[in-house]
Amino acid sequence: MSRVHVVGAGLAGLAAALALSEDPAREVVLHEATARAGGRCWSFHDAALDRLIDNGNHLVLSGNETVFDHCRRIGAADLLDIAPRAELPFTDLSTGAHWALRLPLSLRDLLTGGLRLPPGTALSLGPDTARLMRARPGATVAQAIPGRGPAWTRIWEPLSLAVLNAPPDRAAAAPLAEVLRRTVLRGGAACRPVTMPRGLGPTLIDPALATLARRGIRPHYRHPLTGLTAQAGRAETLRFGNDEIALAPGDAAVLALPPEALSRLLDLPAPGPGQSILNAHFRVDPALAASLPPLTGLISSLSHWLFRRDDVLSVTVSAADSLTGPAPDRAALTARIWAEIARATGADAPPIAARLIRARAATADASPEGRATRPDPHPYPNLALAGDWLAGPLPETIEGALISGRAAARALTG
Ligand SMILES: Cc1cc2nc3c(=O)[nH]c(=O)nc-3n(C[C@H](O)[C@H](O)[C@H](O)COP(=O)(O)OP(=O)(O)OC[C@H]3O[C@@H](n4cnc5c(N)ncnc54)[C@H](O)[C@@H]3O)c2cc1C
Repeated sequence: MSRVHVVGAGLAGLAAALALSEDPAREVVLHEATARAGGRCWSFHDAALDRLIDNGNHLVLSGNETVFDHCRRIGAADLLDIAPRAELPFTDLSTGAHWALRLPLSLRDLLTGGLRLPPGTALSLGPDTARLMRARPGATVAQAIPGRGPAWTRIWEPLSLAVLNAPPDRAAAAPLAEVLRRTVLRGGAACRPVTMPRGLGPTLIDPALATLARRGIRPHYRHPLTGLTAQAGRAETLRFGNDEIALAPGDAAVLALPPEALSRLLDLPAPGPGQSILNAHFRVDPALAASLPPLTGLISSLSHWLFRRDDVLSVTVSAADSLTGPAPDRAALTARIWAEIARATGADAPPIAARLIRARAATADASPEGRATRPDPHPYPNLALAGDWLAGPLPETIEGALISGRAAARALTG
């Protein structure tokens, strides 16, 4: 294959371009609609906070093997911070109760008290997990797990929101089961939280761009794909505004695009939009920040997760459509979220600065029906599709985006 056009410089497109460019005989051309790479995974300097922040808090687990491999290949493995234990502390804001979910790292760890479960969940957790694993195709999380006791509010609801950005009565059971298979069911060693203290962009994106640049590949920014023609069972031309590129015999393309962009370009089925994710970032007194763990789960609150990086506390609210509406009252929402954080952390002074970011349609429709509309990721021999939403059984995650980009490269190169 002489030349491959990769369209979309999010993580899936970058992973495809990295894999394809391992063969120096192949020319890789990378096109991106916007003025930057990273798509839904990026960092920027926020003037209000005067800090580098991520567009949204991203949690990765040590079982996300492709994330580690990606970082190794771009020389960024040292930038991943792996927690020493597979442990997440939780606070219930309605009662003030604290507990931890901790999985043992070894048999010895299990025998010496390394397993901790939220109160009231020990009896139902095993049967619930077995039911989730056996859920019929097309079931939601709520249909797969019948119980509505403490395990529901303390484990399944938060997991469904965190992993699928959808409440359990909407979220498909199958991708949650797949995540558990790749993490929890492999034991604590695959469940250690991984954070990126320098930020998503400096860890996952900038070193990928630098690696591509060393291979002579620089993204063509502000170069959106606006049309594609196919004939005789192969993709024939790519149109970028007034530029038309003919795919010569032996040329190919990877479209690493979000579903709505793909369905605009090709007559293929694609899931509709899922919900927004809200992130509130607060710059606080460094002494307060230093007293907090890097990550805390929050229950019975608007806020779902509290991340701490240096002196910035960042809150994630998943599946946030009902809160934000078309024109959210940003000041009121920020104040509500801070009131919860002040309660959870004991902060007695207001934040030094705050910033609210709404990621609209942060993920695609995660319902069983939405996922059923995903197209064949290899529609023509010289065209492959990539993107987190096409990552086989996985939900839309960094891991899924990287896996799908690599799979698209493999589909074209054999
Ligand atoms: C707020 C938020 C929180 C998240 N939290 C987590 C988390 O905790 N853990 C986790 O693993 N994942 C998380 N995710 C998901 C993760 O960010 C995504 O799965 C991943 O970034 C998707 O990468 P992608 O390349 O598939 O898609 P995208 O990042 O959407 O990339 C698509 C690219 O295509 C470009 N494009 C679009 N149309 C065109 C066109 N016509 N021509 C050329 N280019 C085009 C876009 O500009 C973009 O750069 C989160 C996402 C958000 C938004």
